[in-house]
Parts: sequence; C-alpha cells; structure tokens
Amino acid sequence: MDGKAIKAPHTVRTAPAGACIYCGATGGRLTDEHVVPKGLGGTLVLPQASCDDCARLTSQFEMRVLRGFLDRGRQAMGIKGRKSHKRQAADTITQTFIQADESTFDHDVPWNEGVKVMHLPVFVLPAFLDPRREMDPTVSKLEVMALDTLHFGVGQGELVREYQAQGMRFEDQMDLWAFVKMLAKIAHSYHVAVDGLFPLEQSPLVPIILGQRSDALNWIGTMLTDTLPSAGQALHLLHHAPLESEDRSQAWAVRIKLFAPDPTPTYALATRLSLPQDTTHG
Ligand SMILES: [Zn+2]
Repeated sequence: MDGKAIKAPHTVRTAPAGACIYCGATGGRLTDEHVVPKGLGGTLVLPQASCDDCARLTSQFEMRVLRGFLDRGRQAMGIKGRKSHKRQAADTITQTFIQADESTFDHDVPWNEGVKVMHLPVFVLPAFLDPRREMDPTVSKLEVMALDTLHFGVGQGELVREYQAQGMRFEDQMDLWAFVKMLAKIAHSYHVAVDGLFPLEQSPLVPIILGQRSDALNWIGTMLTDTLPSAGQALHLLHHAPLESEDRSQAWAVRIKLFAPDPTPTYALATRLSLPQDTTHG
C-alpha cells in the first residue's frame, strides 16, 4: 500500500463535508466530526459532517468504548476528553492479587501506585484482504485472535512483592461491537477527510456504523503484515490508500493504529468499493 499518514499534534480542520457522511442529509444542522474521538485525544476534525440523528447514534457506541475498556488507558495517559475529569491524587484503583494457592484477593491501592492495564483486540484479517477466505455477506460474528495488553504505571512485580502475592489478574469487559463500529467510524470519516465525500452506497462501513449490517468480518480486521510503525510522536496513526491488486483496483482501505507509540494492533478497513459488492469478489 502507498499513501500518506497524517500527524496532527494540534487540531487540524479539513474542508467541510457539507452533508452527513453517514446518511447523506444536507438539510438541518450538521455538526463537526472528530475523526479519532476527542476522548482519545483525536485532533483531526471534519467540519459539518454529521446530522443530529447520526451524531446521537455514533456517540452512543463511542461512549461505550471510551467509558468502557479504553477508560483506564485514557486516564493513565492523561487524555482529557470533553467529558472526562482530571484524576485526583486521592483516587484509588482496585487491584486483584493472586496468591500461592491460586486464590485471589482485591485491594484498593492509590491510583498513582496502581498497575493500569488496557487491552486491544486483535481480529483476524478481514476477508477483503484475505485471498483464502470467501466473502460472506450473511456473517454476523467477530473473530478475536488475541488481545494486545498495554501496561501503564509502576511495574507489576513491585506491587506483587509489596502485597506478598504471586501475581496479579486483570479483567476486562470488552464491548467488541461498539469498538468495531468506532473503528469503522474513524476509517470512514478519515477517508472522507482525505478524499472527499463519495456515494454512500459504495461504503461497506456506513451500514455497519448505522447498525444495518453486521458483516464486519468481511471489511474490518487486523493486519499482521503491512503494519503501521510503533515509532514516532503521533498518538494515533491513520493511513489511507487505494488497494493495488488488479481485481480490487477500485477499492480503498484505511489502516488505523491507536496509541501508536505502543506496540498496538494495526486495524485495516475497506472504506470504499466503487463497484457493487457482489462483483468485487469471487
Ligand atoms: Zn445523518
């Protein structure tokens, strides 16, 4: 793939979309869209891009992710969104310790001394990038191969010794569908920010964002090759490019690496297919 990555240390506003990028509405109020949610430190803004109805819908799944399994990481990294509050030194975090007999006990330790863990799901390669897999428009499940774990704060070993335990356990409730929809929203809005609005029926992601289809396995997944680098200053990396292979020459993909300074997964999503879906694959 070839294309450009945008580093955006300060808020960058692109040309306005001028229509809702999800339903196409042009009448009524259109609000600005953060490509990566503001609550994740996103700084790229697509002006006049969402009608009120679609904004309500997208903010629902975004909030489930931001206040859900990404919350600890956001707070540990000091990312302040619209609705987050500054951590007080007096705050605590509940930690689960494992004892020699495998039993566990919980202990509240001061936030600054706690081990903060955040998981990111590693999905399978999306079918549109996988020559060995058939496209299946009826598929409605997600396939998680692994979880990448990010650690923040003090080392785990230190706390384990202090509480005379054998280890620690971290549990997460991950709303994977909300996360997948958030990835789709980031990829779609980034495509529009870079390349302009296109006929929405060419987007495999918009029906997933709006909850009308659930064949995410075809269009959304994780790449193990062509990954985005873990180096650099940018908090999140986005990359937009046309796909090169001949039979898919009229398709575009966006790659996303959240929390890029850490070794996090590279997600890949098909953002635009300029042929009808049933003729772009075999
Ligand atoms: Zn709309």
